[in-house]
Amino acid sequence: MCGIFGIKPYAEAANLAYLGLYALQHRGQESAGIASLSGERISVYRRMGLVADVFQEETLRNLEGSAAIGHVRYSTSGDSQLENAQPILITCHHGQVSLAHNGNLVNAQKIRAQLESTGSIFNSSSDSEVILHLIARSQKEKIEEAIVEALSQVEGAFSCVFLTKKKMIAVRDPHGFRPLLLGQLGESKLFASESCAFDLIDAQMVRELDPGEMVVVNNLGVTRSSKPFEAKPTRHCIFEHIYFARPDGMMFNESTHEYRQRLGEKLAKESHIEADLVVPVPDSGVCAALGYSQASKIPFAFALIRNHYVGRTFIEPKQSIRHFGVKIKLNPVKRLIEGKRVILIDDSLVRGTTSRKIVKMMRTAGADEVHLRISAPPTKYPCYYGIDTPNRSELIASSHSVEEIRKYIEADSLAYISMDGMMDCLAASNKEDYCHACFSGDYAVPFPSLSV
Ligand code: SF4
Repeated sequence: MCGIFGIKPYAEAANLAYLGLYALQHRGQESAGIASLSGERISVYRRMGLVADVFQEETLRNLEGSAAIGHVRYSTSGDSQLENAQPILITCHHGQVSLAHNGNLVNAQKIRAQLESTGSIFNSSSDSEVILHLIARSQKEKIEEAIVEALSQVEGAFSCVFLTKKKMIAVRDPHGFRPLLLGQLGESKLFASESCAFDLIDAQMVRELDPGEMVVVNNLGVTRSSKPFEAKPTRHCIFEHIYFARPDGMMFNESTHEYRQRLGEKLAKESHIEADLVVPVPDSGVCAALGYSQASKIPFAFALIRNHYVGRTFIEPKQSIRHFGVKIKLNPVKRLIEGKRVILIDDSLVRGTTSRKIVKMMRTAGADEVHLRISAPPTKYPCYYGIDTPNRSELIASSHSVEEIRKYIEADSLAYISMDGMMDCLAASNKEDYCHACFSGDYAVPFPSLSV
């Protein structure tokens, strides 16, 4: 769960990286950083917090240069601390090399133990640092050859952007778990996790990198593409579409908004129930709720309002207030809900604790009936490829039936979209190209200590 961005060559590269990261903020709110090339030197600035808080005018002025890469982080591997913030910058016999990585490496611990046993010293607990150690050890002459040698040893998900004195290099793992796009702004080339980063700065999206593709950008902005890795089955993360990505872009050649809307339509057909209102759990339930409402002809209403300004600095009062955690974020519109049979649409139900609070909140606001519909199948398995799902024991659907979950959350009815329904909603051409392991347990890359 991270966002990455890169631009080269561009006179105000760090400023555009800042804007790109701003658009990608939903992919990680824990830390933000930019590495920028000025003259012959790369400097990096990274801090804990949101993009707008981390970078001030002066900070960006100090990062001025002709190329930059950036990163927003949500920890999936490694603790939440500054040492794990990215981009990471090292100096080795290849010169300065900076890395922004999105994804999770399943064999990072094993490689790290091997490297440490032969004297390597790590600065962080992040799996991404392993990549840089392998690059530093590579005896290959060219940096792109060293990157290929390093990445050939890691397994799992990686979408990476590297910055060196002469080149910006983007690489996507052979399964293509995480997105990575190529963009263009005048003569400049850009990379980003999602197209919204290009939209904000009026850049054009050129295309997605293919799984296993490497694109090298030189000082003139000329690109060279290659496929240096052994081909593997494509496995785009379907959860990016269901929950994680912003709905205003294209990903894996599919419109996220349209896909979510189709999920809602399918859900309405699969689990119709008589009701008065369709209410999304904002924000990510909105597109599916629209689809559900259109297919069922039950009116749509924004009857749960989200506070968008809840920051990390929020201080909870010591004395406990009932449902406080959810109340910070969501508040029902009582006048819309009172006396109504409500269908709540959400995109996931992970532990069940939040859904239980929301159902209760709707009843307290006067709903006659509360029916919950989930636009994803039950989440039964953890993700090892970069989405921060809990252990299997904490995933309520791994050990409880739908009826048991319904009782726990105290809803009048509960239904999930079926696996077939979720797959049917994808564009016909690439249904086989998706990872759905968190729903099916079908892992494309085995995890060394897999305990599912
Ligand atoms: S396991 Fe789920 S969340 Fe993880 S990559 Fe696969 S589809 Fe995405």
